[in-house]
Amino acid sequence: MSKVPMIELHDGVRIPQLGFGVFQIDPGETAAAVRAALDIGYRHIDTAEMYGNEKGVAQGIRDAGLDRADVFVTSKLNNGFHKPDDARRAFDRTLEALDSDYVDLFLIHWPLPTLYGGDFVSTWKVLEEFGKDGRARSIGVSNFQPAHLDRLAHETDTVPAVNQIEVHPYFTNEQVRAYGRDHGIVTEAWSPIAQGEVLDDPVINRIADGRGKSPAQVVLRWHIQRGDIVFPKSISPDRMKSNFELFDFELDGADMAAISALDKGESGRTGPNPDTFSYIPD
Ligand code: NDP
Repeated sequence: MSKVPMIELHDGVRIPQLGFGVFQIDPGETAAAVRAALDIGYRHIDTAEMYGNEKGVAQGIRDAGLDRADVFVTSKLNNGFHKPDDARRAFDRTLEALDSDYVDLFLIHWPLPTLYGGDFVSTWKVLEEFGKDGRARSIGVSNFQPAHLDRLAHETDTVPAVNQIEVHPYFTNEQVRAYGRDHGIVTEAWSPIAQGEVLDDPVINRIADGRGKSPAQVVLRWHIQRGDIVFPKSISPDRMKSNFELFDFELDGADMAAISALDKGESGRTGPNPDTFSYIPD
């Protein structure tokens, strides 16, 4: 487990570069999945109120016999709670569900620029409170575009520590990554294997065959060498294990370039466009 590199965020908080994501894991199966991941050596779990499985994350950590402090846990503010008082209450519920008096990283899940009068700035100021009172060791955003990040830069005091965005070989999202690089915001790449869509790609399979690795390992290694944080999701302990084995091989410059060249621009997205996404769960 010590072989997973740690990345230092601009606030000094250190985060394991490789973690385990729990989106679309059934709440009833989450504790077992998280426990299996922790047994393999993962020490970073990415959850969200929207996923409905924060309690399962807490249970999985207990079942693995680990202390809360041994695991880096991220959660996110759900879309229905952007108004300041709603955000404060939602954060209290997240801590309760996680059975913890703090979270390592707390994010605004989506900017929702077409809702709340376009005001994600007040929401961010509430996250600043959680950062100041220590209940969030670090704060960041998810699915923010450069224009959204610019607004935070002009209207608030705190630069998000991370921006969690869709990134994979079919949607390399370079412009948003470059903004992060220029402003000290670390990119977290969600759906790093495009929910499996990139695994049949001939270029990726050629590289995988040549290296004696699986297509998923090659794609995850590409992210690691680009410096992004990743947390692939799997309910299969075998796939969790192979997704964790990324540190005994390297891709060369030609491999890296060939994978980056698979980018399809906007049409490569598997998820919604953050400029128009306006979903509020029931
Ligand atoms: P991933 O790109 O991690 O892909 C997960 C899918 O790939 C699952 O269907 C899984 O199936 C399959 N899979 C995993 N490993 C392998 C493997 N080695 N070989 C073949 N198939 C494999 O998608 P996610 O969307 O889950 O993204 C990862 C995490 O990113 C999420 O869990 C969540 O934490 C975060 N996320 C954040 C978003 C945001 O808006 N902030 C949006 C989406 C995701 P199986 O389970 O059967 O192994």
